[in-house]
This record gives sequence, C-alpha cells and structure tokens, in this order.
Amino acid sequence: MDEKFKLKILLYHGVTSVKSKGIENISKKHLDIQIFEKQMRYLNKYCSVLSIDEVVNLYSKKKKKTGEYFVVTFDDGFKNNFTNAFPILQKYKIPAIFYISTGMINSKNLFWVDQIECCINNSKKKKFTININKSNYTFNLNNINNKAKALFTIKKICKTLSKEKKDDVITSLKEKLKIEPNVSFSKNYEILNWSDIRKMNKSKLIKFGAHTINHEILSYLSPKEMKKQISLSIHKLSKELGEKVIHFSYPEGQKDHFDSSVIKHLKAKGIVCSPSAISGVNDNNDDLFRLKRIMVGFDNMPFPK
Ligand SMILES: [Zn+2]
Repeated sequence: MDEKFKLKILLYHGVTSVKSKGIENISKKHLDIQIFEKQMRYLNKYCSVLSIDEVVNLYSKKKKKTGEYFVVTFDDGFKNNFTNAFPILQKYKIPAIFYISTGMINSKNLFWVDQIECCINNSKKKKFTININKSNYTFNLNNINNKAKALFTIKKICKTLSKEKKDDVITSLKEKLKIEPNVSFSKNYEILNWSDIRKMNKSKLIKFGAHTINHEILSYLSPKEMKKQISLSIHKLSKELGEKVIHFSYPEGQKDHFDSSVIKHLKAKGIVCSPSAISGVNDNNDDLFRLKRIMVGFDNMPFPK
C-alpha cells in the first residue's frame, strides 16, 4: 500500500484554565485546558507523534516518505505552557517544541498584540479616535462586539506596519484609553521565566527554539535589526540552556513576515528548521524553513483528524 506522506504540525500558543472577561482571549489563542488534554490523549492513542528533531532527520533523508505524522509546537513562551501544557504533555508522553521570545522571559511585559487587547478590553472609554499611518479611525467601545471589532481592526493594521509605526500606535492607544497594560490584568498574559524553561528542558520530550527577542516581524526590520533579533535571541537561549540552539520560528509567520534574507541569516547562525504559521499540511517536498502549521483552536480552527 502506498500511503501518502502527511506531516501535520500543530501550532499552539497557550493552554488556559482562566475564565476570560470581555474580549480577553477572544481569538482563542489560549486553548481551554480540557480541550488540550483531550487532543493530547487522542494523539497518544491514535497517532504517530514526532519530535522536531525527528522531522529534521526525516527531511534530510532523500528517500520518499510515507505515513501520517503529527508534531506539537508552541510559540511565544506563555507561563501557562509550564503550568498547564507541560504536565499534560508528560502525562501522555507527547514530544513538543516551545519557540520563545527571549526578551520577554522573566519580564512582566506583555506581547504587543496583548497590549492592544488589554487596552481595549479594560478601558472605561465608550468611543475613541486614533490616527494610524495618517488616517483617522473612530471606534465604539460600548459593547463586546464593538470592542472585538476595534481589536481585530487595529491588530490587522499593526501587522502591516513597521516597528516604529506600530510602537506609535500602541503608545497612542495607552494614552487615549488610559490603560497601562500589565500582567495583573490577566493570568493569560504571564510569561515564562528561565527557571521554568530549564525545568522543562530537563525532560527528554521537550525542546526549545528561539522566536526573536521581542516578537518583531522580521521582514519589516532593517537588515541590521533583523540580524540582531535573530542572533541575540539564539545566543541568549543557548546561554540560558547551556546547549546549542538549532530551532527557530518566525513571529506572525505568514507569507510576508519572513523572506530569503531572514532564512539565510538563520542558516548562518546554525538553525536547521524554522516553521512558518502558514496554514496547511506538509508533504514530501516541503522545505524545513517553510513548513506549514495548523493553529488549533485559533479562530475556532478544528483539530485536524
Ligand atoms: Zn509568536
């Protein structure tokens, strides 16, 4: 029987047990802990799950691959990866890789997308106008639907802007909405610390990779800043773990968010694999720097059985 090769790389961010308020976690970036456990139980029972290093080995062999495989990956480095996901991965013996933004670790800072969510969700304002890239946008914040619309629109625009312009939008949002985002607004915003990471890294199931310093979109940076975000994050992770780092993933990871100069610099720094966040299943001919992933739960995307 000639079974077609299929590699399904699952992309998670967080696993949560927090009851969210308002528009917090409205995109389901943090998956409910019970749903996550159900998925890991299913993988353990019915599927072949590979570690990311096994994927690298598989693709470096020239021979034709067959069979269907799953890989579990996490991006960003949320605290709940340690408190909620790690015990479940161990319980079901599922290998996983965590790609982390090293500058966020040990800090009380929020990822920039979470800063936008936090401002809009917690502001007492009913309406506001903001200037983005020389255009004025007015948003109503009088109910959850309008807040969700404001969040969706501002996030979408920011993902097309340079770092400087995106930082200006966030500064202006904080001033206009009178919110200073911080982890006390929600447990979902909390980030891992190096001690959590070292504890997880002791497990044979777990690997770590870099995900830039502070989650900047690599293709929007100057060549100098792009190289810095790559080199320093790899260096910091390697120093903290006391081992060589050969894995990476691109922040945001859609088609426009990385390019051949990014890949060239990653290879020069010893990276052997960097998956994208482009949605899809991989086949025999895929490239280890352009692998597709499936964002389980995000915007209600189903688990791929
Ligand atoms: Zn990310």
